[in-house]
Amino acid sequence: MQQIPAKQIPVQIHNPGQKNGKIYVRLTSGLFQNLRRLISGSMMLMFFGTAWINLDGHQIVLFDFFSRRIHLFGLQLSPQDLFLLAGFMIVGAVLLFAMAMAYSRIWCGFACPQSIWSWIFIRIEDMTEGSRNKRIKRDMQGLNIGNLLRRIIKHSLWLVVATATAITFIGYFVPIREIATDILNAEMSLEMFSWILIFALLTYVNAGLTREKVCLHMCPYARFQSVMFDEDTRVVSYNSDRGEPRAKPGAKPGTQSSTTASTSTITKSFTTTETIAETKSGDCVDCHLCVHVCPTGIDIRHGLQADCIACGACIDVCDQVMTKLKRPTGLIRFISANQEADNKSALIRPRLIGYLAAILLISGYLGWEFSQREALIVDISKDRQFLYQHNSQGQLCNDYQMIIENLAIISDTLNISVEDKRFILFGSDKIKTKQGQREEYRYRICTEHATGLPPRTDLQFLISNAEKTWRAQSTFIAPR
Ligand code: SF4
Ligand code: SF4
Repeated sequence: MQQIPAKQIPVQIHNPGQKNGKIYVRLTSGLFQNLRRLISGSMMLMFFGTAWINLDGHQIVLFDFFSRRIHLFGLQLSPQDLFLLAGFMIVGAVLLFAMAMAYSRIWCGFACPQSIWSWIFIRIEDMTEGSRNKRIKRDMQGLNIGNLLRRIIKHSLWLVVATATAITFIGYFVPIREIATDILNAEMSLEMFSWILIFALLTYVNAGLTREKVCLHMCPYARFQSVMFDEDTRVVSYNSDRGEPRAKPGAKPGTQSSTTASTSTITKSFTTTETIAETKSGDCVDCHLCVHVCPTGIDIRHGLQADCIACGACIDVCDQVMTKLKRPTGLIRFISANQEADNKSALIRPRLIGYLAAILLISGYLGWEFSQREALIVDISKDRQFLYQHNSQGQLCNDYQMIIENLAIISDTLNISVEDKRFILFGSDKIKTKQGQREEYRYRICTEHATGLPPRTDLQFLISNAEKTWRAQSTFIAPR
């Protein structure tokens, strides 16, 4: 088969899976669908389950922006650690490049949330309105009582899934148990209600109504995938050398199929497992099942297309057809251009090794940075209300606010002092701290040695435990 060079992947050739502007996806089963369900099922379980797991009194994953704290599997991250999250996002992006280079858009087909939720919504549609053919028939019948009821049930179930998704998603930013309690006691704030409504509607529209249009028109990944592809990238590809010319089972030798034949006739003919007469026709029986199962409605027999999300549904259904016809499977398969040309193709190649090396290097650097981060973050700010003032003993004084964030010290007592002995500290000189605590303290620093002090003197606050001393710098202001 002449494969379309990777750099020239057409944005869209054809969208034959559409009927009246709508794609009616037929569900299928097989190796890739089982793999996809396993991956998406595990990801769903993680998404809906993780939010409910607590560790040391905190939700195991919580982006608590109100408290300026991120809880991540027992780690406490502060806004200063956001570079770690940025780093992990870069690692994720490079991993995506590596996956795309090795196996095209398998992320989109197997693990992208847009696809996972779309498949759930398609499954609900299939349960409530019936299989593809029934859905087409029902749409042609228009709205009768039965169809209306089915539609109401479908949209209600979609809304239930969308609302559960929205609550869980927000539960990673506000403790989910608090949201659940508010819902059960009907005490939800208008703000929280609005956020849940917005995210539920987004899920409902994305997975239920716009579905593949998000992948085709909104997702930038499809547009720049050709940059990552090369001649060794495994893509979903139809073997036209073997498949063409197309012919219906039992057709006279050399007879080409009409593309308008009904699928039900073909499907029926598979069940008879009729022996196919020796024919010059190709193996494709033009049953259109590969088009019917495609979530983006494309016909992969037209060649590689940017709209293909590499979900493997067409491979599974075509393998079923071939098996029923007692022909070899693999008429549609994951294959690279080089494999097709000479059967030799390296999956591991220099650019892929480069991506993997980049992932290892960035991860290693992040791990090292994380191990070096301070266990305690101290922030001192000078009170701006008064530059300076005198106390009842005539000492010159400045006021300060100290914020101590304990990121990694197990419960401990910290000693607070100032380095310069000309200054006296008023306020708690011993404070108790617990891991994950963020506390504010107020201090007054005074001196009896105001005469001769410059207008600005550097002031070092010392915060220490038995093992270590942390320093935080501020300034003492004196009259000019
Ligand atoms: S499923 Fe296979 S046999 Fe049927 S039309 Fe597609 S490629 Fe041809
Ligand atoms: S062409 Fe095949 S692999 Fe690509 S999106 Fe359609 S069904 Fe999935």
